[in-house]
Amino acid sequence: MTVVTKAAVLKGPYDIELTERELVCGETEVIVKNHLVGICGSDKNFYRGQLPPKTAEFRQEPGFPFLLGHESGGTVVEVGSRVHEYKVGDKVMAFGWNNNLAEYFKAPVEEVQLVPEGLDMDLASLGEPIGCAMFAGLEAGVKLGDTVAVFGAGFAGQVIAQCARAAGAYLVVVIDVCTGKLQLAKQLGAHVAVNAATDDPVQVIKDLTHGHGADIVVEAAGTETAINQATQALCHGGKFVFYSWVTTPVRLDISRWHDDGFTFVNACLVHHSREERQVWAPRALRPVIQGLVKIHPLITHEFKVEEIKEAFAFVAQDETAVKVVLRP
Ligand SMILES: [Zn+2]
Repeated sequence: MTVVTKAAVLKGPYDIELTERELVCGETEVIVKNHLVGICGSDKNFYRGQLPPKTAEFRQEPGFPFLLGHESGGTVVEVGSRVHEYKVGDKVMAFGWNNNLAEYFKAPVEEVQLVPEGLDMDLASLGEPIGCAMFAGLEAGVKLGDTVAVFGAGFAGQVIAQCARAAGAYLVVVIDVCTGKLQLAKQLGAHVAVNAATDDPVQVIKDLTHGHGADIVVEAAGTETAINQATQALCHGGKFVFYSWVTTPVRLDISRWHDDGFTFVNACLVHHSREERQVWAPRALRPVIQGLVKIHPLITHEFKVEEIKEAFAFVAQDETAVKVVLRP
């Protein structure tokens, strides 16, 4: 059976279009009808023309036309002849770049995963961004009494800050340059929100901690400035948690990484292997199902898939957009 779908193609910088694609299910593939699609911060960079290099996880060649989308979930409508893990009607979350920004997508069987019980389909469709951010929030290893500074109040930063609060941090400081995102962080439990456009976050953190610095810093802003400010804001012997996908070279002031004996945690897991993901993803999503980490307030704007041009134009310029979704 051939499934015809509308799917997003990035023809060049700022030039996005819905085209018609025919999906033919391979032996070890599934075809999924999307419930909801998310726009990732990385999609925003691609839209601006910054395509990342090919990696083990990101297997597309950097070049246009570029098939867009990796955050979605929905219902399996077809399975290949050698697929035994899933059947038609199963609800799945996507973990992989398979032109998911579409009504339907086709994926190798290892790049989808069953929706855990208790997770509604709007959130399950964001299983990948939620799971990755939650994984980082858990890997940060926040303990009772810790002071935690999260640089970046985008989707991941908001999730990680909520994890820190739920884990019993003494003080959670969120840093961004967008007022709207900072207000949201405070509504969701951050103790202090710092606008780095007007205030020096390093000084604010030093003042709040009597010169000590934060016990844990999380870099989820993806800028050279944020990485260096996080470095300066961390206490002696503190933990630097790195989350962002920075695809252009940056200049780092890393003397303190050496002299102050920082522990460096790489929490940008991407997806690890299929086997590992089956274990960590449902586990990382548990606090969301429990309501300890709130996701619905982070879904700030919704468009229809047909409005893809408007949606990307909006995402590229709006400062309040945390997670923008497209509904087929
Ligand atoms: Zn993403």
